[in-house]
Amino acid sequence: MPVSKKKLLKAYFILSNIGMKVPGKLETEPVIKAIQSEFHLPIVQVPDNEQEQYIDDFLEIYAEGSLDSYIEERKTRVAFYTSPEWLALKKKVVKIYGHRCLACGCEDKEIHCDHIFSKVSRPDLALDIRNLQTICRDCNLLKSGKSIDYRDKEELMLLQAYFIDEMIANRPYKYEE
Ligand SMILES: [Zn+2]
Repeated sequence: MPVSKKKLLKAYFILSNIGMKVPGKLETEPVIKAIQSEFHLPIVQVPDNEQEQYIDDFLEIYAEGSLDSYIEERKTRVAFYTSPEWLALKKKVVKIYGHRCLACGCEDKEIHCDHIFSKVSRPDLALDIRNLQTICRDCNLLKSGKSIDYRDKEELMLLQAYFIDEMIANRPYKYEE
């Protein structure tokens, strides 16, 4: 028996409320997949006859409030990474170092703008360009929460050049000969 539309809709609203987009139509499999990937649950194929129970369990856990702190944390994270300040900063960082992983040197992978000191350890540096570097997705996963600065002298000189350009662009006056 298929999972009722009402239950799917409930699960769908929970997911969209935390900023998760369920791809495709309101169908059981995409909803289950979204639950698994969003809540870091094992990605497994749930047999047809267990899908209803799976959605029920999810709704029950949600109703208990067990997911509240996770959901709050995720909302804060989404708000940060979609803020105009972050998006503008990220563009600048990629412009300074190029579309290149400073850890492994690759140029053809997905590039992340990484916090050298994590946002958790140094929230005050979350929007500080000196605390940001470009690394690929794989290197970012390996680095995880550790504080590693992959920038060499060459990259620090690029950063310095960026600061000089900013100072020139924003200087309050300049000499006229
Ligand atoms: Zn890399």
